[in-house]
Amino acid sequence: MLLEYKSSILIIDMGFRMPGEDMPGIDYIVPNINYLKDKKKNVVGIVFTHGHYDHIGAVPYLIEKIWHPKLEIFASPLTRGIIIRRQEDFPNQPPLNINEVKNGSKIKLGPFKIEFFRQNHNIPDNLGLFIETPVGNILHTSDFKFDPTPINDLPTDFNKLKTMANRKILLMLSDSTGAEEENHSLSEKTIEKNLEEIFEKATGRIIAATFASLINRVQQIIALSEKYGRKVIIEGYSMKTNVEICKVLGFIKSKKGTIIKAKDAHRYPDSKITILCTGAQGEGSAVLMRMATREHRFIRLKKGDNIILSSSVIPGNERTVQNLKDDILRQGCRVFHYKMMDIHAGGHAQKEELMEMIKIIKPTFFIPIHGQYSMLVSHAEIAKEAGIPEKNIVVAENGQIIDLTQKKISVEKSWVPSNYIMVDGLGIGDVGEIVLRDRQMLSEDGMFVIVVVVDKQTGKVKGSPDIISRGFVYLRESKELLKDTRKKVVEIIHHATDSGGAVNWSYIKDEMRNKIGQFFYTKTKRRPMILPVVIEV
Ligand SMILES: [Zn+2]
Repeated sequence: MLLEYKSSILIIDMGFRMPGEDMPGIDYIVPNINYLKDKKKNVVGIVFTHGHYDHIGAVPYLIEKIWHPKLEIFASPLTRGIIIRRQEDFPNQPPLNINEVKNGSKIKLGPFKIEFFRQNHNIPDNLGLFIETPVGNILHTSDFKFDPTPINDLPTDFNKLKTMANRKILLMLSDSTGAEEENHSLSEKTIEKNLEEIFEKATGRIIAATFASLINRVQQIIALSEKYGRKVIIEGYSMKTNVEICKVLGFIKSKKGTIIKAKDAHRYPDSKITILCTGAQGEGSAVLMRMATREHRFIRLKKGDNIILSSSVIPGNERTVQNLKDDILRQGCRVFHYKMMDIHAGGHAQKEELMEMIKIIKPTFFIPIHGQYSMLVSHAEIAKEAGIPEKNIVVAENGQIIDLTQKKISVEKSWVPSNYIMVDGLGIGDVGEIVLRDRQMLSEDGMFVIVVVVDKQTGKVKGSPDIISRGFVYLRESKELLKDTRKKVVEIIHHATDSGGAVNWSYIKDEMRNKIGQFFYTKTKRRPMILPVVIEV
């Protein structure tokens, strides 16, 4: 998100989103920041709210494009630790100088005066932003929930919220992720109680999969393991590094000897082992998936294991998670997931809390942020119910520009570029719509290559066209189809070269693609990708 006043731009968070199931091979999607292309020097600073990857994950992919030696960056100690540790995996990056801020810190970046305030979430050290601008005060909630009994953290400071409200808030930007959920989010304390039930009853190993950045859950599982005399093995690169950072900064506490290496697990009975790992979303390369598909180096799932999937399913990942669950169950393990018990519970305020937040802050204008479009709409409804007039509420999409004055909020007609920038391995943005469509096509109906050798002089096909196919039909069992295809290819070429004169090969290739494509569709109802190759001799 960018706040722009005259020629000064403040950046709030730089996150990524996970690709959907229809984006084969894509690792992440990062924001399009073309708008900033010639405005590098206008960027007065970046502030981060918290350490979740949807708020910091794009830093290594985007920072180079806006970095200059005077760029000022601010984050809480934990958020800073996570960003800096992650930068180490990208050695060609500029050195990031990130200043630490905490609850109550005040900074000034160009025309923006920012005051940070503590907000409860499911990662510690989360900060909301009170931003004084020449137009008026803006309150950014960050991701949040109201938690009267958090873990390793103080409860929500309602007095602080009320004091800020008294300073008059022109615009509130509030977290919408939980806006479709009724009632109140669960306290971290309640979640711990539910988790404890599993620990009480489990006789085999406990394997808990969660997001590496769900630090509170990680802490709860370590604490419960200690209470029930279990050793904890931490698996997964991001999980290991996050636990390291949090231990150094004091956000995760564990007794000496609790955390052991995977290779030492055999020294303890299964009832004394907890494995904490990544992969609750069914991510292909994550630890839990490798265990479930027996590809993990030392850990095999077995009967008696208790698998906890402690994260709600990201929209678009439902099928993958379902398959993962089935794979785990086939191996005789028990699965506990968030639908059965509240072992995940969002870190996000639900309807009741969102309503309460609006009523406390009493902003003149309101923009729901964070979450899918339907969540934004649902949050806008809540705001209306809370008494904010409809004309004062804007539901905006990525790329839209919102104008804010003391009197009015409105959306501009023009958009800034906001199409997905996809990250695949080392490439950022080089996989575009076309490459993605090719991948989808290949994954659906396979490919079909036709190689024809043509006599330059006569335009006649020499010999029989060669055919290579993958993922379309099994060639050995499709002799009839192949024979007909070869015949058609020869016909297309001879028809086009018959009249003599210059031969337009790109036209002929298009013809092959269209006509053979049509032919395959009538015969098989499939549309493989057809690649014609013509060699003139
Ligand atoms: Zn978050």
